[in-house]
Amino acid sequence: MPDLEIVVCMKVVPKSEEVRVDTETLLLERTGVRSEINPPDMNALEMALTLKDDQPARISILSMGPPFFEPVLRVGLAMGAERFFLMSDREFAGADTLATTYTLAQGIGKIGKFDLILCGEESADGATGQVPPGLAEWLDLPQVTLATELSVDQKKRIARVRREIKGGYEIHEVKLPTVISVKTASNEPRFIDFHRKLWAFEEAEVVIWSHADVDVEHGYIGLTGSPTVVAGLREAEVRERRKEFLRGSPEEVAKEIAKRLRGILN
Ligand SMILES: Cc1cc2nc3c(=O)[nH]c(=O)nc-3n(C[C@H](O)[C@H](O)[C@H](O)COP(=O)(O)OP(=O)(O)OC[C@H]3O[C@@H](n4cnc5c(N)ncnc54)[C@H](O)[C@@H]3O)c2cc1C
Repeated sequence: MPDLEIVVCMKVVPKSEEVRVDTETLLLERTGVRSEINPPDMNALEMALTLKDDQPARISILSMGPPFFEPVLRVGLAMGAERFFLMSDREFAGADTLATTYTLAQGIGKIGKFDLILCGEESADGATGQVPPGLAEWLDLPQVTLATELSVDQKKRIARVRREIKGGYEIHEVKLPTVISVKTASNEPRFIDFHRKLWAFEEAEVVIWSHADVDVEHGYIGLTGSPTVVAGLREAEVRERRKEFLRGSPEEVAKEIAKRLRGILN
């Protein structure tokens, strides 16, 4: 039986407390901002690694983004992935979700054989959740979103996916190959494997593709291939809550709170 081929799509995002948008260009500000692996993508990678704990599998990380994604995503190699492909080119920049999913789908085509494509539920910056369904569309594959558990029967070519819903869960059986988005915090991503550290951070070859290396049509990538425009941007007002400190002994404060609550409830 051939090894299960898993592609995990991973993105690097600004740390949540540092997300800022340039109000002139309406694009994310990346300079001077600390970055991390999109936290839901760590759950997707952990789901792939859990499968690999039980059956022969090869995990490939795929990302589209600027060169600084490379050192950040090497963590995935240290956790247990075998390969890392980065699609990085100015021609890919400014992509909306349509262009992003087209580009990633062409990258997956270039990787070759695959059984599973795992994604996070959504990114911490764009947060559309459109990439996994978009990939399924471009690749004409079945998809299951918000998976919390996954097992694969390679012989029957079936993935069994548990998907939580309000008040219960669903079990889906889906034919391979398939696209699955993983519910955020559905597992605990493992620490890096220290035996892999030297290889992952210094020796492993990361395959970097420009638009010329992949079979992409120019009109479908980057800004040119993006029909969506960010037409406006407004910061949400932060409302100050009214607050008041009551003074006195604990009994006096408790009595005063009870009195005020009675006033509100009556
Ligand atoms: C007009 C327009 C211009 C834009 N210009 C820029 C720009 O210049 N620079 C910029 O950074 N963003 C830009 N964006 C945002 C960009 O479109 C989104 O970040 C991108 O399409 C992914 O969508 P998302 O972040 O909502 O991912 P979601 O759909 O929320 O992500 C779900 C999952 O998909 C996977 N995924 C998402 N993105 C990637 C990726 N790049 N590589 C690998 N896996 C991925 C991950 O597994 C992730 O957890 C622009 C958006 C618009 C509308």
